[in-house]
Amino acid sequence: MSSVWGRAIGWLLCIAVFVYALVRVFHGPQWALAAVGGALLLLLCWHLHQLGRLIRWLRGPLDAPLPVSRGAWDIAFAGLHRRVRIRTGQQQVLSDTLESFTQAAQALPDGIIAFNRHRQIIWINARAEGHFQLSAETDGGQALTNLIRHPDFVAYLDAGRYEEPLVFHSDRVDGQTLLLQVIPYGNDQNLLLSRDVSQLERLETMRRDFIANVSHELKTPLTVVAGFAEMLADDYAAYAEAEVKHYLGLICEQSARMQRLIEDLLTLSALETGGSGQAEERVELEPLLRSIVAEAEALSGGRHEITLSIDAPACISGSANELRSAFGNLASNAVRYTPAGGHIGLSWRVRSGNGGNGGSAGGGACGEFAVSDSGIGIAPQHLPRLTERFYRVDRSRSRETGGTGLGLAIVKHVLTRHQAVLDVHSEPGKGSTFVARFPSRRLLG
Ligand code: ADP
Repeated sequence: MSSVWGRAIGWLLCIAVFVYALVRVFHGPQWALAAVGGALLLLLCWHLHQLGRLIRWLRGPLDAPLPVSRGAWDIAFAGLHRRVRIRTGQQQVLSDTLESFTQAAQALPDGIIAFNRHRQIIWINARAEGHFQLSAETDGGQALTNLIRHPDFVAYLDAGRYEEPLVFHSDRVDGQTLLLQVIPYGNDQNLLLSRDVSQLERLETMRRDFIANVSHELKTPLTVVAGFAEMLADDYAAYAEAEVKHYLGLICEQSARMQRLIEDLLTLSALETGGSGQAEERVELEPLLRSIVAEAEALSGGRHEITLSIDAPACISGSANELRSAFGNLASNAVRYTPAGGHIGLSWRVRSGNGGNGGSAGGGACGEFAVSDSGIGIAPQHLPRLTERFYRVDRSRSRETGGTGLGLAIVKHVLTRHQAVLDVHSEPGKGSTFVARFPSRRLLG
């Protein structure tokens, strides 16, 4: 660049000397000085004009076109333009990087709140807005502990022991449990990470309840069995034969109850862990339903009138064993919860279109297996919970009739695996109808 200016000054001097010498030869030294002065003034005006253009260009928008000039000014304009372009490019790269970091932080499944040493919020991602019911727009710059005042949270921040996360039961969102952890970074800055573990906690509670329920269910029969067995082992001869028979009968009864419970638990566990790989076989419904009716009659011991109606020769695709277990549970419930003299009807029919039933198994044709009874019925408040494991309307009646509290949970699992749904209609004192509705794609011709 300096060589450019050196050459320009060199040319300027040469021209000045040449003009001076030429004018001096013809008009004398005064005119020669005046001519050189005039030429220099003209040159100065031209430079001032170029300077004005430069200032106008610098003040204009960043994308204004570069002024076109000559000589050194052209080189100066181009140089400036190049610098502006490089700086703009660098800024663009930086803002793109920042934008993609922001988008990545927004996309994280965890909540993030960045805050400074005064606990003022610097940045919040959308997930954290949801977790704490905050707004990035209005709450930025506010003190975190003014917005989240829960004593557990404030104590966690005050203690400053951030190696362990805090399990935080939110008072803003019902039933929400968050796992919080503060991560210090940079110059006294911190990140508060929040993860919603409500679902995990619910599963953990379910697991605990399930273990407590199973233990409770096994404890009663086991106590009976152990008690009588101990009694007899201690002094067998002290009891009359009839008494011994009675005690042994009770032991057998309670052992059978435990066995049923274990069998149902194994069935449930097999259904839960079996994935969707159940046998897809062609299940002829008529023989299956006839054998279920025979079992129900055996259980009823002639105390009920049991009928079977089949609309048309029927076949569905699925697992025969699972369907036998589900249909058998519905039929045995009907027998167990219907007083002697009552009627129990099993039926299979295919409904075309929506069939006026809300089409819960899909909009097209569906196959319905229904078990209706004229039994004790179920009050409406119990209906939504019937398929929960160990849920019983009347605990003692269920036990008396040999129930495990798992029958309808098994039914629901089997139906779900066959993309079918269970509908229950019931009226206390009048009876119940349990309908298993299969989608058309399960029906075989
Ligand atoms: P359980 O082994 O106790 O019968 P289920 O899961 O089969 O367990 O049924 C859950 C509860 O639903 C039963 O305890 C009973 O209170 C109620 N229930 C099921 N089927 C009928 C029915 N047909 N009539 C009346 N109540 C029923």
